[in-house]
Amino acid sequence: MVDDSTPDWTQPIAIADKVWWVGAPLLDDSFQCHTYLIENGTESILIDPGSMINFAAMLRKVESIIPLSHVRWVICQHQDPDITASLPALDQLITRPDAVVLTHWRAIALLKHYNIRIPFQCIEKMGWRMHVGQCHIQFVFTPYLHFPGAFCTFDENSGILFSSDLFGGFTEQWHLFAQDESYFEAMRPFHEHYMPSQTILFDGLLKLSPLPIRMIAPQHGSIIPEHLVRFMIDRLKDLDCGLFSLAQSSTDIQRLSRLNLLLRKFFKDLVFVREFRSVLETLAQLAGQLLPLVSLDIHWQLDEQEYLLWAQDNHYQRRQIAPNQEVEALFQLTEQDSDWSVRGVYICFLPEEQKPALLLHLRDSESGGVKGLALFRLQRAIAISQEEGQILHRMGDALSVAAMREILHYQLEGERQRYYERSIRDPLTNLYTRFYLRESASRLFDIQDRDSHTQLSFAAFDLDFFKSVNDTYGHGAGDDVLRALGQILLSETRTMDIPVRLGGEEFLLLMVGSGMQESMEVAERIRVRVEQLTLPGALHGRRFTISAGVSMRQPKESLESVMEKADVALYQAKHSGRNRVIMATAS
Ligand code: GH3
Ligand code: MG
Ligand code: MG
Repeated sequence: MVDDSTPDWTQPIAIADKVWWVGAPLLDDSFQCHTYLIENGTESILIDPGSMINFAAMLRKVESIIPLSHVRWVICQHQDPDITASLPALDQLITRPDAVVLTHWRAIALLKHYNIRIPFQCIEKMGWRMHVGQCHIQFVFTPYLHFPGAFCTFDENSGILFSSDLFGGFTEQWHLFAQDESYFEAMRPFHEHYMPSQTILFDGLLKLSPLPIRMIAPQHGSIIPEHLVRFMIDRLKDLDCGLFSLAQSSTDIQRLSRLNLLLRKFFKDLVFVREFRSVLETLAQLAGQLLPLVSLDIHWQLDEQEYLLWAQDNHYQRRQIAPNQEVEALFQLTEQDSDWSVRGVYICFLPEEQKPALLLHLRDSESGGVKGLALFRLQRAIAISQEEGQILHRMGDALSVAAMREILHYQLEGERQRYYERSIRDPLTNLYTRFYLRESASRLFDIQDRDSHTQLSFAAFDLDFFKSVNDTYGHGAGDDVLRALGQILLSETRTMDIPVRLGGEEFLLLMVGSGMQESMEVAERIRVRVEQLTLPGALHGRRFTISAGVSMRQPKESLESVMEKADVALYQAKHSGRNRVIMATAS
């Protein structure tokens, strides 16, 4: 559609002094193709003459400004038929012998097949410049946007950049002049769709940057007035391109473009956001803009039994929850289960929940097997095109990588936890280790140093004549005794207390909140339990005894010192006959 606010487009329109739009709008076509004329006496210049669809109207407009015989230069900024198909017809009408078609050699290689009389001239052989009459023109090579020989033409007098495909737009409501910044949204799908890559586009824009551009006159879409020039150039600089590689049958470029934008935002998030939770939160938010989304959950299967779940209703806090049967079955979906042909992307229905869902299979990057699900629960069923499926598939790939990263993190965390457990628990007796004693003692000492009413006591234990147990019954039997002692220590102590196996058959009990009297009683109880211990098998009938020394920690006292005091008392117990508990004297 052509908007009413566009000036009378049945006439040529001056877009600057001596510069004319001589195009003809294509009704019911969002892909406008423009021709421009630079009026320059008998050296006038016609830019991108156009196709046979526009030819008659274009010719009429040109001839209403100048006689056609004044046109000497015909610039073809690339070789597409919507720019050049009228060349043979023009060739019939432009009869002056010095007329030339100016273009890049790569276009000449193709345009020569029109077999026209007017000779071609390479712009590169002209040093990318032309000074003729009052006119000073620069050509800017912008290859691969979207033709290897594509270029733009800059008119120094008017400051107009004739930009060919660059800055083109799809316009449902066509205005000759871009109205405001919203024209960018018309440029977006055009560039995302037709420009092969961001790098190439960026490179082209960089080349244009030094020019004092006062207006951009593209071959498609709308003319960009001065106040919007910078904005449009800057916005194009970080636009994603290459969407055409996705488009196979869908022509809903706007929607593809929106999806692609989503994918890009998501990728960006993946790179910049370390936390999987936030990645998922953003993904759900982005998906909500495109899908009738109810919720997004991620399930991951670690092994037969273990599953992880990141659910929207729990703000994506990781939990170990297995999916219900209905969801679990979705891991097994194959291409045969869907009339949908993009691998790993399914539209399904959850009968129990009575809800349609969009499902992405997430894969383990090593095995390639399906290990996870991204389950987008939907308010209603939707149809998606093949291309959207491809984009979602790519999103599934990216999400798989993010999930794998998170799983690795989770496993390392588990590994560290297990390692820590191992380092704090003695595997034989299940008592704490020296390592843990040191860690918790420093914590408890801090408390006592701040509050001297906190009482900390240490009981050191050593089995009597244990060597002979080993010697007589073997090491295995000795281990049984150590395990039994571990049980006694655990059962005789409160949760606050810390029973430790220091090594060999030497044990220590760190008691919190017990004075000397009470600590002696605890140690005594343990001594009695050992005395009463009976073990089955070969050790049956064998009696065991243990000696102990008990010390109290004074504020600021070191671990070594308070343990040394307990040890001295233990030594006294050994030397005064064993099977007894001795109180350490204050040193
Ligand atoms: P004392 O009454 O003086 O303590 O005599 P003892 O025989 O217990 O002497 P000592 O404490 O020097 O002996 C420690 C013995 O503990 C030596 C070793 O055979 C045994 N032992 C150390 N670690 C282990 C272990 O992990 N398992 C078993 N079965 N025995 C151990
Ligand atoms: Mg010993
Ligand atoms: Mg001993």
